[in-house]
Parts: sequence; structure tokens; C-alpha cells
Amino acid sequence: MRLGFNHSYAQELPGFHAPATPAHAPAPKLLFWNLELSEQLELPLRETPPIELAQIFSGNSLPDDANPIAQVYAGHQFGHFSPQLGDGRALLLGEKRTLDGQLYDLAFKGSGRTAFSRSGDGKAAVGPMLREVLIGEFLHAMGIPTTRALAVVATGENIWREGPLPGAVLTRVASSHLRVGTFEFFALRGQQEKVKTLALYAIKRHAPQLEGIENPFLAFLRLVAQRQAALIAQWLCVGFVHGVMNTDNMALSGESIDFGPCAFLEGYDPGAVFSSIDHGGRYAYGNQASMARWNLARLCETLLPLLSPDPELAVELANEVLEEFGTAHDEFLLQGMQAKLGLVPHKSTDSSDAELVNDWLLLLQTQAIDWTSAFRFLGKASQGDASHLRTLFKDIRPLEEWLNRWHSRCAQDDCDRPHQEALDRRARRMQRANPVVIPRNHRVEEALTAATLGDLTPFNTLLAALRNPFAIPHGDEHLTDPAPAEFSAGYRTFCGT
Ligand code: AMP
Ligand code: MG
Repeated sequence: MRLGFNHSYAQELPGFHAPATPAHAPAPKLLFWNLELSEQLELPLRETPPIELAQIFSGNSLPDDANPIAQVYAGHQFGHFSPQLGDGRALLLGEKRTLDGQLYDLAFKGSGRTAFSRSGDGKAAVGPMLREVLIGEFLHAMGIPTTRALAVVATGENIWREGPLPGAVLTRVASSHLRVGTFEFFALRGQQEKVKTLALYAIKRHAPQLEGIENPFLAFLRLVAQRQAALIAQWLCVGFVHGVMNTDNMALSGESIDFGPCAFLEGYDPGAVFSSIDHGGRYAYGNQASMARWNLARLCETLLPLLSPDPELAVELANEVLEEFGTAHDEFLLQGMQAKLGLVPHKSTDSSDAELVNDWLLLLQTQAIDWTSAFRFLGKASQGDASHLRTLFKDIRPLEEWLNRWHSRCAQDDCDRPHQEALDRRARRMQRANPVVIPRNHRVEEALTAATLGDLTPFNTLLAALRNPFAIPHGDEHLTDPAPAEFSAGYRTFCGT
């Protein structure tokens, strides 16, 4: 069996990886198969029975053209530099090129020890690997750049965490697994030639339009910064808290990656933190843009010698890119919030829109209003029914004041259209920007707990709803409800190692 793999990373970057062999899975069972993604990747697996898919994607019978390697990287974890990380429980099987020319990594996670495992067992549990499915499929359905799950196979072996848990292997698809930490690994060892080789490879893969221009490195850095600025704005709009934005978890591609301790906002609070190990709130909801900028600063440091032979000029150029990141992020976020509020952006109203957005956020924060419901019911208010929205608020006076301002702002967009047409247009815009279903933390936990015990029904129901996040899931309307307050108050996430 061949999957049509390329091996550009393995071949073009010697010294950036080590050979790896997946552990044997005693009784592989396919828990999840992403048919749509497999078709998109043009994998010749349409007719392959689940029992065979389980053998392939557990690592028991690798495709003949796979070349499994573990990638090396370093990383700043919670601000502290770890010089030696790398794929400790992952391996790259190969890359698949689709007809549009794009290369995608297919990589295992949880497939056993590698040269970079340190004291870890290299394994992963069913729950966290299925979480990768739910989050990736939801972000994808929202149009947010993300790595995605192709398969999850239970290995039939228990692994030991706080107690025994069923083990699993995830097959992850990513535009690449190049991270800020990959650059840091070589830069902090003074291996500048390797940083350059890596940067050229990254440009070929993620910005081929820059190949051959005079100084592609600055342009590439700028592009990476722009992609991160857009990504974080999209996370914020959907209430996503990544939870562990270490530099080894920030992909150069601009895709979301590694969903260990992530969670979604319920009551709006910029300080929301869910991860059990994030004591200082470093990766809180509202800190994510500054943390992305911090990570980009680490990337800049690795690229300084490539930006200019004059060290002072190099620093100046890097600082410019970081400044631009901030401006671009604010713009993307404003655009995202304008869409969520149903406003058509105009240069002339941007600054008053920003005020309107901030006052709305303050309103949500003061009364701890559920993020997703607030926007969903504001959509209903746009069609003349504010009753659902009102029920969310204890004190509706400030809401009514804000709604008056919002209605007059909306009227500015509508002056060129008949009333009904304007209302319909806004309703459509708001529906597209505001999901009805998100991966509510308690529903995700419920689905993963059941799956760990062998019942995939809640997982499959939730997955189906998350893949169609703008529609009320008929028969499963409960999936749209916020968690009970007792659940949210004590909700903590774990890195899933
Ligand atoms: P993560 O927090 O999942 O991004 O992982 C951070 C680092 O720890 C990476 O180098 C992982 O490969 C490594 N790691 C996490 N869990 C394990 C494990 N069970 N065995 C070996 N390495 C691991
Ligand atoms: Mg990671």
C-alpha cells in the first residue's frame, strides 16, 4: 500500500530529525475516520475497510512509502527556554501533495517513544486524541486555519497517567509542523546556516511567491506575523482559549495546533484561564495576542542575522514587523467583531464601531454573559426579537441603552435599501459570523469521558453538530446550552500528556 508520500522535510533538512518507529498496537480499533479529509488529500483509501485503516493508522502496517521521522525542536514554555524538545510522542510519516500543489504533513501523535521522548512514554490517551478531532473539525467548520485529524485509532493498550487510560494514536494533518521552536533549536545553538536552510524551506512551503526575491526573509517574517494576527483574532471571535501557546506550539503556517488544555469561553471574561498549570494566567483569553507577539519576537531573534548584515538595522526591521503585528491584529479583530455585530465596515465609522464593540464587551463582562449565546441572541434582536437576549441579563437597563446605539449604527448601513432587505442582509451576516454550537467545555468532557469508557455516541453526536455550527442541531438542542454554573466554576484542563 502506497499513499503517494513526498519526503521534502526528511530529504532537504538532514540534521533536523531522527528516524522513528511506531510502537506496536496490540488490538487496534478505528474510533474516527475523516472521509472528507482523506478525499481532499486524494488518499487512495475510499474502499479500505475500517479494520485495515486501523492497522495502517495505528502504525502496525505502515504504507510502503512512509518514512517515519521525529522532528527536532526547542521552545519557550511558559516563558522559560527548553533547548531540547522535539517530537517526543509524534512522528512524521510523510507529506502528501494535493492537485492544487499544496503539501500536507501526515503525522502520528501517541505512537510511542522517539529519540526526543526524554522521560515520557511517547503515548497518548483516547480522550485527548478525540479532543483534537472535535476542536480541529469545529475550527475548520468556522473557517479558522487549523490542523485536522484524519484518524484516531485506539491501540488496545492501557497507558498510565493518574490511573490507567486506553491509549490511542492520532493521525494529524497539517500544512507543516514547522514551529517557532524549530528555528529556536538551531539559532540558540549558534547554527545560523541551519536557520537559513530552514527559513528557505519554510518559504518554499508556505510562501513560494517570495522565492527568489532579494530579501525573502523579512517578507516571510511579515507574512507569518500577519497570519498569526489574523488567527488570534479569529480565536478571540469564537471564544477560543488555546491554553498553551508555547513557542513549540506556534506553527509558522498560521494554523491552530495542539489542543491539549484548550477551552471555550462561557461567561465573557478577558482573564479566563482554564489550564491547571497556567497559574499566572499567561495564556488567558485576553492575553493571546500579546503572547503571539511575544512568540513572534522569539522568531524574530532567530532570524535577525538574515534580515540584515547590520545588527542595528536588523533589530529595527524586526521591531517594525512586531509593530505591524499589533496594528494588523487590532484591524482583524475589529473586522471580526463588526461582522459579529452585523455591521458593515466603513473607514468613517471604524473608530466609533470600536467604541461600540468595547462597550458591548464591557456589558458582557460586567454581567458575565455567555459569549456564544450573547451574539446568537443579538442576531435574533436584529430581526426584531430581543426577548432571548434580555433573558441573559440580570440588569437590562445598560443593555437597552447599548441596543439603542447599535440600532442607530445599523440604520446607517441600511439607508440605501428597503427595510426588509436590510434586515435580512444583516441577519445573514450575523448568522455566518456567530455559531450556534461550539465545543462547550462540559459537552466535550462528557463526550470524551463516554468515549474513554467505550461509548462513542455522545462524541459522534457532538462532532456532527460541530461540523455544522451555524445550525441548531435538531434533537440535540441541549448542545447549545451553556454549562451549569457549578461546572464552569471548577473547570480545569490538563495538558493531556
Ligand atoms: P505538548 O505540551 O504536547 O506540546 O508537548 C511538549 C513536549 O513534550 C513535546 O516535545 C512533546 O513531544 C513532549 N511530550 C509530551 N507528552 C509526551 C509523552 N507522553 N511522551 C514523550 N514526550 C512527550
Ligand atoms: Mg506541542
